Amino acid sequence: MMQHDNAQATATCPTQLIAGDRIQLAHGEGGRLMRQLLMERIAPHLGLNPAWDDAARCTVAASQLAVSTDSFVVSPLFFPGGDIGSLAVYGTVNDLAVSGAQPLWLTLSLILEEGLPLETLDRILISLRAAATECEVAIIAGDTKVVPHGAVDKIFVNTTGVGQVRQPGSLGCARIQEADALIVSGSLAHHGIAVLAAREQLQLSPAPRSDSAPLHRVCQRLQQTLGEQLHAMRDATRGGLSAVMHEWAQSTGKTMRLFENRIPVTAGIRGACELLGLDPIYVANEGVFVAAVDASVAEQAIATLQQECGCPEARIVGEVIRQQQTPVIIQRLMGNWQSLDEPSGAPLPRIC
Ligand code: MG
Repeated sequence: MMQHDNAQATATCPTQLIAGDRIQLAHGEGGRLMRQLLMERIAPHLGLNPAWDDAARCTVAASQLAVSTDSFVVSPLFFPGGDIGSLAVYGTVNDLAVSGAQPLWLTLSLILEEGLPLETLDRILISLRAAATECEVAIIAGDTKVVPHGAVDKIFVNTTGVGQVRQPGSLGCARIQEADALIVSGSLAHHGIAVLAAREQLQLSPAPRSDSAPLHRVCQRLQQTLGEQLHAMRDATRGGLSAVMHEWAQSTGKTMRLFENRIPVTAGIRGACELLGLDPIYVANEGVFVAAVDASVAEQAIATLQQECGCPEARIVGEVIRQQQTPVIIQRLMGNWQSLDEPSGAPLPRIC
């Protein structure tokens, strides 16, 4: 957090440094410039009135808390459907949401590259605050570091989220059972394809848009409706649906069986994936989650998602079965059964 003023730096800081429109190393050195950056630039965007204590103090009633942390290094910083600011809020809020927690608080760490235009920082913070307001989370602690040009790419953001678990013990992969239905809340691969297209300046038509969005309300509604019959949720970020299926197969010792013809993928995304040689099942999402629910409530879950949660593309895409030779199997569109390999390597780096 905030350090003491460095008297020497303060004495030698010429005022033209303050007037500059780019981040300078001195903005991170704990002196007057750093205080000005925090007080005059960062705090107003976030609606904060910084208290110069070393920790935020939070009062909670006796309850279970969920904590999640994530770092955001997405390139480019701005892409159709989102930017690093809103992504840094939604990404962490969604990890709390799928854990059955009401998001309450966020911490925010910024690592800024020397030379970053302050106007860029402004845009990111405005977006970040709007996302936090939308998610009803308070930013309660933060840190800002500045590193020399080239040590990071423009700006990296870390957020840590704390939420209150609504029904302790009711959600998690330990509750996944054989015959559970596997559900996805929306069509796949929008985020990964949108970021890749923006970064590589691919002229795709229509231009893909990220699905970056908060999931806490949808997750809460589904949990209220299904109660104990909702067994587990996970947001399908890096590695996409495939990564979640492999993680659940690993932790449950069961096989996840998917049917490709039930997996929602829009025609535009399918075409882009074919062009790029990517399988949408492996591509990152930032506003889609996977749920394992008791088979008896699978149709009710889809009706809730489609009719009450604004998720018209929600589908039952598979089921949990007794352990087979391979952890994840998929019936392809042609009718053939395949083992679905676990994502490996980084075909799409820096998408979140
Ligand atoms: Mg997650």
